[in-house]
Amino acid sequence: MKIKYVNHSGFILEFETFLLMIDCCGLTKENAEVSEAAGKHLYILASHVHYDHFDPNIISFGDVARDVRTHKGHFAAAGASSRHPCRGAERDVHAAEQKWILSEDIREALSHLSQNKDIHFLAKGELYRDKRVLIKAFGSTDEGVSFYIEAGGKKIFHAGDLNNWHWKEEETPEDAAKNEQAFLDELAVIAKEAPVLDAAMFPVDPRLGRDYSRGAEQFLDKIKVGLFLPMHFGNNFEAARAFKPAAEQRGCCFADIRAAGDEFSV
Ligand SMILES: [Zn+2]
Ligand SMILES: [Zn+2]
Repeated sequence: MKIKYVNHSGFILEFETFLLMIDCCGLTKENAEVSEAAGKHLYILASHVHYDHFDPNIISFGDVARDVRTHKGHFAAAGASSRHPCRGAERDVHAAEQKWILSEDIREALSHLSQNKDIHFLAKGELYRDKRVLIKAFGSTDEGVSFYIEAGGKKIFHAGDLNNWHWKEEETPEDAAKNEQAFLDELAVIAKEAPVLDAAMFPVDPRLGRDYSRGAEQFLDKIKVGLFLPMHFGNNFEAARAFKPAAEQRGCCFADIRAAGDEFSV
């Protein structure tokens, strides 16, 4: 499996026959990431409705896939044997599926949609499963959910906005302690069900000030992670990279993200 960093909290997980796009914002139908996805089965995930995690454009990614497949289908039909002139076209048109696995809080934002898309809304604790993937929604300390994913023999976690948002330098010690406890409670639930992960994408957000990686440290103290990928750091790549020694001390590899498009093998 390959994991590609797109931006902020957006990643693409690439398997042999399918892709999972998680919290990808700012991509349009014209982006290479979207058209490259057209030949494979595509799962589009969004952890919650906030603008930095959910972009309404993701709903049209399926149209691109269909356009490309239909186009391919015409070529295939033209080259097919005279005995079965349509066989190639049919095979290609039905080749790839698109599914949207979205947090329940996004449902309202899509209520205007009339098209029949394969959309599944998950609330905390709910599960989506098919022959390729298992996706379970865990809680968040912001809106929506975090995602635990099993696919291609790998176990992966994307935190969404689950984090120890302690804002210690701005809020009262009582509020900071309450926020921290909410995070630790949810972390305990996740660690019980998923004590070992091949890869985890988790916020390392310098806006929190001092102790900005406290949540990530607590996460890695509870869960054994193969590859840790920082996220939610905006354009402050340096602050994200500063977490590397602390991550490595906790026994995982650190994804040294330097630019959009960076890829890591798992
Ligand atoms: Zn949020
Ligand atoms: Zn966010």
